[in-house]
Amino acid sequence: ERSFLTAASNMVKLCVICETERAVLKRPKTGQQICRSCFYHVFETEIHHTIVDNNLFKPGDRIAIGASGGKDSTVLAHVLKTLNERYNYGLELYLLSVDEGITGYRDDSLETVKRNQQQYELPLKIVSYSDLYGWTMDEIVKEVGLKNNCTFCGVFRRQALDRGSVMLGIDHVVTGHNADDIAETVLMNILRGDIARLGRCTEIITKGESMVRRSKPFKYTYEKEIVMYAYFKKLDYFSTECIYSPNAYRGYARTFLKDLEAVRPSAIIGMYRDLLCRYREDIIHSGEAFEIKTGVKMPEQQTCTRCGYISSNELCKACVLLDGLNRGLPRLGITREQRTRHDEAKEVKKTGVTKIQHFSDIQRAEATPPMANSNIKKIDISY
Ligand code: SF4
Repeated sequence: ERSFLTAASNMVKLCVICETERAVLKRPKTGQQICRSCFYHVFETEIHHTIVDNNLFKPGDRIAIGASGGKDSTVLAHVLKTLNERYNYGLELYLLSVDEGITGYRDDSLETVKRNQQQYELPLKIVSYSDLYGWTMDEIVKEVGLKNNCTFCGVFRRQALDRGSVMLGIDHVVTGHNADDIAETVLMNILRGDIARLGRCTEIITKGESMVRRSKPFKYTYEKEIVMYAYFKKLDYFSTECIYSPNAYRGYARTFLKDLEAVRPSAIIGMYRDLLCRYREDIIHSGEAFEIKTGVKMPEQQTCTRCGYISSNELCKACVLLDGLNRGLPRLGITREQRTRHDEAKEVKKTGVTKIQHFSDIQRAEATPPMANSNIKKIDISY
């Protein structure tokens, strides 16, 4: 019996960090075999370091977590609440969701967000495309088909988050974009030759409308680890893909990156460290290292003459797209041909327009959105 126990104990691998507990997982980022507690600790501590090293927040900030109900934003809400309490960041946290109006997808995922609201005891605000723009994504897809739907959705979502933030009096929106998402975006911008966006997409903090900052605390966090964290913590998240996603350009970039990763793991999951001892990834590092030659004309930032949102043209992209929809010309603002956004703006001006609310007219609707009463179990954020 003793020899069996000895053999069995020899087979049990101990966590390489604490050397006490049994290793139950191989960490994708480092390949280390570690126990559950040490995984939670390193995962959360790395995000804490990302926040502190980049001065993402200051005490008293009102922070909205862009919450979709998916794994990234659910883990973000969980980790930010944990870190805020553990390190006394002094943040006021909110959940901010966008209802794009996608039946069978967003309606279900918003139910998850509503449960998260109760589990994390955070106030929740939901803004909808229908209220803001007069169109749901279901209606837009009927009009434009499945080819350019994500362009509409992406442009509208960005504004919707900023509009919701102004309503909440928010200083800063955090989103769950992870290292894999950023690598995909870098690749897509390279393939499109969009140098202006390439420079911006790797930035950890960007500024939106009305001084609302936006940041990505998961910039150095890998998708596989987020999934692992959500799985081991048994977090309540929604994992179904959007019903309109199969034709998304991003999907092809994702597949390509996964193929690359299979032959070269550091394509996304870097296994080496830079001089600052941070793990680096080939693709994100490439995006950061791009330098724009002096003299290259870059778009100038101005405000949309119609709705007051930031724009690099007279009219912002959302106003141009909306006009196309309202006039039965959904390809307006999508087709590149020989037309420029300036031409599109002129074309839009010629006819009657349906305006969206001007940014300066947005009222701070409520100091704190009401919390729903429920018997749902609160999440235990201890290790
Ligand atoms: Fe919107 Fe496209 Fe994402 Fe669906 S896949 S939520 S349509 S951006």
